[in-house]
Amino acid sequence: MTAAGGPRRTLETPVHFLAGVGPRRAELLKRLNIFTARDLLFHIPHRYEDASTVTSIAKLRVGDDATVIGTVISKGILPTRKGLRVFQAVVQDASGLIEAGWPGQPWLDRQIQKGDVLLLSGPVRFFHGRQLSPREFVNLGADADGTMGGRVLSVYPATEGLSFKLIRGLIDRHLDALLPLVTEYLPAHLLAEAGVPALPEALRAVHRPTSVAEALAGRARLAYEELLFVHLLQRRARAIAREARDGIRFVRKKTLTTQLRKALPFALTGAQVRAVKEIVADMGTPTRMHRLLQGDVGSGKTVVALFAALLALENGYQVAFMAPTELLAEQHVRTIDHLLAPLGIIPVLVTGSRTVKERRLAATRLESGEPVIAVGTHALVQEGTRFARLGLAIIDEQHRFGVDQRRILGERGSGAEKPDVLLMSATPIPRSLALTLYGDLDVSILDERPPGRKPITTALRPEHGRTRVLDFVARQLDAGRQAYIVYPLIEDSEKVTLKAAKTAFEELTAGALKGRRVALLHGKLPAEEKDGIMRRFRDGALDALVSTTVIEVGIDVPNATVMLIEHPERFGLSQLHQLRGRVGRGAEESYCILLGDVSPEAAERLQHFLDTEDGFAIARADLELRGMGDLFGERQSGVPTFKVADPLRDEELSEVARAGAERLLAEDPTLSRPAHQAMQQVLRRQYGRALELFRVG
Ligand code: ADP
Ligand code: MG
Repeated sequence: MTAAGGPRRTLETPVHFLAGVGPRRAELLKRLNIFTARDLLFHIPHRYEDASTVTSIAKLRVGDDATVIGTVISKGILPTRKGLRVFQAVVQDASGLIEAGWPGQPWLDRQIQKGDVLLLSGPVRFFHGRQLSPREFVNLGADADGTMGGRVLSVYPATEGLSFKLIRGLIDRHLDALLPLVTEYLPAHLLAEAGVPALPEALRAVHRPTSVAEALAGRARLAYEELLFVHLLQRRARAIAREARDGIRFVRKKTLTTQLRKALPFALTGAQVRAVKEIVADMGTPTRMHRLLQGDVGSGKTVVALFAALLALENGYQVAFMAPTELLAEQHVRTIDHLLAPLGIIPVLVTGSRTVKERRLAATRLESGEPVIAVGTHALVQEGTRFARLGLAIIDEQHRFGVDQRRILGERGSGAEKPDVLLMSATPIPRSLALTLYGDLDVSILDERPPGRKPITTALRPEHGRTRVLDFVARQLDAGRQAYIVYPLIEDSEKVTLKAAKTAFEELTAGALKGRRVALLHGKLPAEEKDGIMRRFRDGALDALVSTTVIEVGIDVPNATVMLIEHPERFGLSQLHQLRGRVGRGAEESYCILLGDVSPEAAERLQHFLDTEDGFAIARADLELRGMGDLFGERQSGVPTFKVADPLRDEELSEVARAGAERLLAEDPTLSRPAHQAMQQVLRRQYGRALELFRVG
């Protein structure tokens, strides 16, 4: 196991001490986050191929989506009329041959040589005969066996200069020496309950499986650990927070809340009633509320939040209602003002652009301790805004705030009294997933939309229908309606021939929308300018808004009836759904039109969006098709990320892990029993903050 005279190898041994890894490769491995022998051992395949997944080339039909393995018998770069250079290779297996084409990737000519064996996955198209368009490929190298030979092929994440084959070779070479260094640290009864093998066996199975089923069982062990740890951390964080938080015990006086119920111009939906009950019950306990209210766009979160706010007010406390932009804050003030006017309650607006006098007036009211609802932006958490008696902090579009801003608002209490916290999110995700992602929060879900909403007519139109679509938009504007036109990019990229918003704006104002009042809105504009444009649109001073996705979290403009989305394939389904939610807010029939030629795969994906207006179903489809990254856009602050587990696909495993975590902590809250110490150590190593959470005493 140890080279003569060499240092004893442990899992902590830096990779460059391993045979076959020099300083250069060690540098490259760092890109894959592989620093030690352990990291190498835990670099697990992201895919498997075996005879059952590989098709023989002769059997490929146009329209198939398939994986093949074949040897390159010829290759070259083909220029096209449009100036795009296509790398092409002809690959052959025992049954026949097929051409594969990679448009715009001429550099592959250097990476793929005649005689190399390639594993290719992708759709088969008709292009001078059958042509494979690889979505993914793996170069197995020149000496690879062109057949699967009954084996399972483990495909690893690779990086430039460090091929999949090299990584596989390295892991294979060291596996037998490294595996004996691994010992299981999760309790056997939990593994049995989850039906997964112990760690050494799991690692053997993921790297050197004899069947795909075996590989997946090994993978499940690793996924289970991630899920278990996340649940342990969240449960523990929550338990500590509960111990530490002396909350306010709000009493249902049924004065203001009852008045609101009577004054509302509509009846609450069943989901709203349920959410209000959950929140009121939570606020009635002596521990602090830490709850997430999630619901689709238009599901009526604001009203629910208002009941919570009134409960705080009727107990003599103040409420802070924080929104991510000035415009949204203004909108909330207006809505709240409108709904609470019959009760004689006037909200205070706290934003950066208020005049000094207005701010001083607001500050006086907040510092006086008078029960009041302060609606605002992050100005609410800035120095100079002091609440004398903050009882409830409501945070809308919570993911747009940093963890710190959310925490600061939560700390804005007076003395020892800390406010209850209600977070709101319009990204609807299934409850089980919410429990995995937000396990340190309680969750209320609005899964019902207020009655009487008209469906939004949604369609995908090809490029050659552009004129007709734009004519339709013009007719809507003629009828006095307003339209959004959304683009995925601002600047033309040299490679991708996307019509970006700027170019399009010029084209539109010179063409189809000539003579209309149109403005261009994009993320690079200063905030005041953005708000100014949105205000003009809201007030009807603009007919159309050409925009990048900055309007995604936008304001209510009931008169806007058209949402036209260019290059729809570039958007995630949930993103499209949020955009669609910007229309259909008034009495008029509304339309969401996706415009552009998209690939058959993209069309298939978009179909999920065209088929339903149920945000939960769309989020689920999004997660299944493109993973978590898409749903949350950029990495959402505070949401755990997983290397192996997929909280949606591993929903059942996550449930088992959650139950297991709960039981473990009930028996041994700090995981300090001897049987749990090894596990606790791994937790500490992997998640620094676990150190704090599992500190004894
Ligand atoms: P969200 O913030 O969840 O997107 P809002 O709270 O802005 O939704 O509500 C959207 C619109 O629906 C508002 O105009 C609101 O007054 C209205 N609304 C809320 N609840 C109901 C209901 N139960 N019945 C009818 N309309 C409702
Ligand atoms: Mg809202």
